[in-house]
Amino acid sequence: MGDRERNKKRLLELLQAAGTGNAYCADCGAADPDWASYKLGIFICLNCSGVHRNFPDISKVKSVRLDFWDDSIVEFMTHNGNLRVKAKYEARVPAFYYIPQASDCMVLKEQWIRAKYERQEFMADGKTTSAPGNREGFLWKRGRDNAQFLKRRFVLLAREGLLKYYTKEEGKDPKAVISIKDLNATFQTEKIGNPHGLQITYRRDSHVRNLFVYHENGKEIVDWFNALRAARLQYLKMAFPELPESELVPLITRNYLKQGFMEKTGPKDAFELGQVFLGSNEQGYQVFEDLPKGIRGNRWKAGLTIVTPHRRFVFTCPSEKEQREWLESFREVLSSPLTPLNLLAVSTESDCSHR
Ligand code: ZN
Repeated sequence: MGDRERNKKRLLELLQAAGTGNAYCADCGAADPDWASYKLGIFICLNCSGVHRNFPDISKVKSVRLDFWDDSIVEFMTHNGNLRVKAKYEARVPAFYYIPQASDCMVLKEQWIRAKYERQEFMADGKTTSAPGNREGFLWKRGRDNAQFLKRRFVLLAREGLLKYYTKEEGKDPKAVISIKDLNATFQTEKIGNPHGLQITYRRDSHVRNLFVYHENGKEIVDWFNALRAARLQYLKMAFPELPESELVPLITRNYLKQGFMEKTGPKDAFELGQVFLGSNEQGYQVFEDLPKGIRGNRWKAGLTIVTPHRRFVFTCPSEKEQREWLESFREVLSSPLTPLNLLAVSTESDCSHR
């Protein structure tokens, strides 16, 4: 066996070696990474390797399978590896900071990777940023009646638990004052039609409202997202002082399991909010694949029925594929038991597609 083959074999063994964390991308957790940063000593996926190429002073990438690896680099990889390097660059990630997964949008992953290695924000001796839940600046906000985006000044005040925005630069009165209490924020890049598109959902006068915003700079929009998360965590700690931080962190913001349109059939009463609270199977919540006899969607043939302890909701879906996806999402939600915290936080979480 030549050097080339021997080193490749050592590398492939290293990917599987127990206790190294090398079997998952060091940055997004994707399984079976087959690229590596040989300057940092980590194994990463193809996707994340694309981000690493942007700062060659700090990171340099090679394909595990396609590139040539000499002895000294294999040696370096052996002495580093994902877990060891993580301990160094992720020594102090704040609890509110959103750590992206493989399925998250690119801007979240890119900024996480840059924050870690390029800006070195989370190293043990890194500088502390003060008051992370306070922020002020401009965002492009989609107008109410059209698809146009308008520049608006936003102010986030963590201690007051408020997000405000202003239509005029000099304006004294905010156009809206939004409570952090019921707020959710999630990147929706396809829906908003912008790679940095952020959806902010909140509640006013018992109605659910949305702001669709973006910033052309990826760092800005991700910093806004994490500032909102910091403010939310601060609020949750005040609201539930007896609970450990680890139980509050999953409640800071929610990704939607599935979004889309279904058509509701039947009487229009009691459903004005456009929300159905989903409990669990244990509490008598169920979802069925069929429409009840005699029910026909106006436009759509496929559908499903959600049964709650109080009533039943019938929805029709635009296609059988959509119907299958909704069924899967509903079953996933209903099969996980509610925790007492779910019930406490129900006011922020009664959207029909997520919990
Ligand atoms: Zn990755």
